[in-house]
Amino acid sequence: MHHDFDYFVIGAGSGGVRSARVAASHGAKVAIAEEHRVGGTCVIRGCVPKKLLVFGAHFAEDLEDATRFGWTLGARSFDWQNLRDNVLAEVDRLNRAYQATLDSHGVETFHARAVLAGPNRVRVGNRELTARHVLVATGAHPQLPADIPGAELGITSNEVFHLEHLPERIAIVGGGYIANEFAGIFHQLGSQVTQIVRSNRLLKGWEPALADRLLQIMMQKHLDIRLNCQPKAVVKQADGTLRILLSSGPDVEADVLLWAVGRIPNADGLGLEELGVERRNRGEIAVDSANTTSLPWLHAVGDVTDRMQLTPIAIREGHALADRLFGGRNWKVDYTHVPSAVFSHPPIASVGLTEPEARERLGGVRIFTADFRPMQHVLAGRDERALYKLVVDASTDRLVGAHMIGPEAPEILQVLAIAIRAGLTKAQLDSTVALHPTMAEELVLMRETG
Ligand code: NDP
Repeated sequence: MHHDFDYFVIGAGSGGVRSARVAASHGAKVAIAEEHRVGGTCVIRGCVPKKLLVFGAHFAEDLEDATRFGWTLGARSFDWQNLRDNVLAEVDRLNRAYQATLDSHGVETFHARAVLAGPNRVRVGNRELTARHVLVATGAHPQLPADIPGAELGITSNEVFHLEHLPERIAIVGGGYIANEFAGIFHQLGSQVTQIVRSNRLLKGWEPALADRLLQIMMQKHLDIRLNCQPKAVVKQADGTLRILLSSGPDVEADVLLWAVGRIPNADGLGLEELGVERRNRGEIAVDSANTTSLPWLHAVGDVTDRMQLTPIAIREGHALADRLFGGRNWKVDYTHVPSAVFSHPPIASVGLTEPEARERLGGVRIFTADFRPMQHVLAGRDERALYKLVVDASTDRLVGAHMIGPEAPEILQVLAIAIRAGLTKAQLDSTVALHPTMAEELVLMRETG
């Protein structure tokens, strides 16, 4: 049967672009549709601009510490518009680079919303097109709580990169990735930060020792962290500022309120219901281990599915799918040992089992930790300790988890993730000569603490 395209990809984010490009390189006739900007959340309003803000924010401490290293600095000031505009210009550059990749691979781009119009059928604007395979890679969007009066007065991570001014006071709701990352960024840039967390800890599901250390450091830096607390209502005051009424404790006044309470899949209104595509509780598209939905011609990757909401996962899923459909290569994404990081101040990075998970799943567990003040902090007189933790299966001596908080933790942990995937043992780490003086050398010098 003739189709207009071999592959029609809906959504030009990280997963969609990778899949389209790989399919095209296998010789498929490919189209991609994007209703916002090519690049998707990660490039346009997520990982990339966030990381650039993290770099920008870090100068606050570096400049402060510089005097202890002998530098005399003149008057310092920070210009939000300057950083914001430079970051947005870099986003524009990447957007163009993504588009150029699609173009150079012969992928036809539709800058419009596409929806499913029937089996193997896609509607783009007022055109109907057919494709042998269709991929939904539409990502997710930040959610606003539905039941809080005035919630719409707050912003989400979509808007935060475009703020006109650096807020003097910002309230951030949530205890996960986005909340902790922006709490760090705005605190460093000079805003007064109040973080409102509904449970009794930050980063539920992460290694508790790291989450506790982050909380301790943030409190030491005078961020106002309200645990066990929920917003009840948000009101705009006569002077335009916001008052956030809480379930417990005093109200919070802020110039900006940022909701960072999770992201929901962009799966509504795509025509999935009409086709009877199976979905999960939060609307995620259910897919099998090869990213195919309940219909054999329809596939989904990335945040719109019921898997991990992480860019490198979406990319691998898109790549594997295109290889399988058009390249004759059958491989699947392995979801074990996926490293991830929170770019808080200081950053956190983690791979494998936490101590509580390992104790529940394995017979015997050995715990090794290094709790130290990084050398640069000592000279700077900064009372901020790093913490590294290794979780080892006692019966095999294999590393099953690694968790770090401290300067450059995500950079170091990427390498440990390879060690864990390779099944290395604690003895093999110990037999490696330390690279002195570094923070990473702690990993081969760790003492048993549990
Ligand atoms: P997270 O799932 O990380 O955290 C959501 C937070 O909001 C949790 O603390 C949760 O509490 C809390 N929460 C949920 N609903 C409510 C509510 N109604 N009222 C108050 N608090 C609430 O979501 P994020 O929005 O931070 O990030 C979304 C996803 O994006 C992440 O899961 C991650 O996959 C991805 N991401 C990855 C990044 C990275 O790799 N560095 C960076 C940013 C995002 P509780 O824990 O009690 O449920």
